[in-house]
Amino acid sequence: MVSELSLRVKRRRVRLILWVSAAIQMGLGAGWATFFAITGSFHIAYLELGLFVSGVCVAWLTHIRRTRRAFVLLTVVSLLVLILFCLYLDVPDEFTPRTAHLYLLVLTLACLFVLKDEHPLLRWGLCGVLMAAFWVFASTHWSLPSELSVPVSVRRVGVWINAGVAIVGLMALVNIMLIETADANFLEREMEQGMSRQEFFLVYQPQVRADGTPVAAEALLRWRHPRLGLVSPGEFIAQAEKSGLILPLGDWVLDAACRTLQHWATVPAMSGLCLSVNVSAQQFLQEDFVQRVAGALSRHAVPASRLKLELTESMLVHDVDDMARKMSALRALGVGCALDDFGTGFSSLSYLKSLPLDQIKIDQVFVRDVLTDASDAAIARTILQLGESLGFAVVAEGVETQGQCDFLLAHRCVLFQGYLFSPPLAAPEFEMYVARSAAYAV
Ligand code: C2E
Ligand code: MG
Ligand code: MG
Repeated sequence: MVSELSLRVKRRRVRLILWVSAAIQMGLGAGWATFFAITGSFHIAYLELGLFVSGVCVAWLTHIRRTRRAFVLLTVVSLLVLILFCLYLDVPDEFTPRTAHLYLLVLTLACLFVLKDEHPLLRWGLCGVLMAAFWVFASTHWSLPSELSVPVSVRRVGVWINAGVAIVGLMALVNIMLIETADANFLEREMEQGMSRQEFFLVYQPQVRADGTPVAAEALLRWRHPRLGLVSPGEFIAQAEKSGLILPLGDWVLDAACRTLQHWATVPAMSGLCLSVNVSAQQFLQEDFVQRVAGALSRHAVPASRLKLELTESMLVHDVDDMARKMSALRALGVGCALDDFGTGFSSLSYLKSLPLDQIKIDQVFVRDVLTDASDAAIARTILQLGESLGFAVVAEGVETQGQCDFLLAHRCVLFQGYLFSPPLAAPEFEMYVARSAAYAV
């Protein structure tokens, strides 16, 4: 899961590298093309103009996210122009060294990073060619002197410009590689900052009856990262659990959910809705978890019966007695508990009987293939019967088609959650959804 995020971070870095490279090509190309055009060296001006056009194309391809093509263009054009420059134009003499080859180092570094996941032959082959070219041009004065070479007076200024731009380019690339390492520390640091920058928010997915009337919602956490965009919980919850950040994050979710319930209480169409909140094992294992829930409810003066906590079967590997004790305390407060993703874990039937549960949620993996896979259909049917006989409400998660809904309805499922009815919605859209449903019901 984190790897999806790593991929996004890497893509972003590749684009940054391409932007920097395109800027270098455009800047050098435009600057030198103008200079050589003014001084009448049109053959060099055309070459520099080509570099400028290549920079524009690289920037455009990067903008439309064709990063591979952008990189191929960048490498091919830069390599050709640099070799031509080193051989014919930037001819070293006793007093003025060659400098155009310094850009080969910048290009090699970009190659090493951008082609990191490509075939080693391509990556090291290309880097090898670039490094070999640098080596040759750095170690020799080897060139093909001609009338075309840049006048010495211009080269004296050019060495400073080339060396300076190459240094800035190298620094920029190294910095891009260092600023965001898509490792655990990066995620952890960003999550911590995200909490203080208030980048986390809740979305609400309706839980409806078969006729579409919403009776509850599940609060789902979202993270809008300033640079990575919207990050889904699948990408960050596991890391938050590993780092312990899930505790403050979970507290925030509880508080935000209670604030939402407080608001709903003021809207007639919403005052009867329940809100389910996902709770991680670590959160639930906290000694004072029940007090934390009670605290959130009382801070927002919300009736406990409106809040439901979604626990997962994985929590049953911990102390089941402790779990039962806390669930009873929560029930005494008036807070209900649901068993999320039911069927994917290993809860034994005896646990189900001994835990004060109110609801079980059939995991979406069974719902997905309920019409095509006989075993999934049997599992869904069994869970519905189990719920009925043990007195739990059963919610079917991930209902996407009318066919799945009809099947579940035929087996007496009464609550549904899934894209067929609505995806998770931001707070204002959810309010509109409920208002619309209320209007239809009238
Ligand atoms: P979950 O609690 O089982 O939530 C249901 C997931 O299924 C949600 O994904 C929801 O967007 C998605 N979903 C709903 N309807 C459909 C459908 O019809 N088809 C498909 N394919 N998917 C559907 P989401 O929001 O990405 O959340 C993923 C998981 O992250 C949640 O699974 C939950 O375990 C965890 N999570 C979300 N918010 C929180 C939170 O505040 N705290 C904790 N501890 N975990 C959270
Ligand atoms: Mg859930
Ligand atoms: Mg679930």
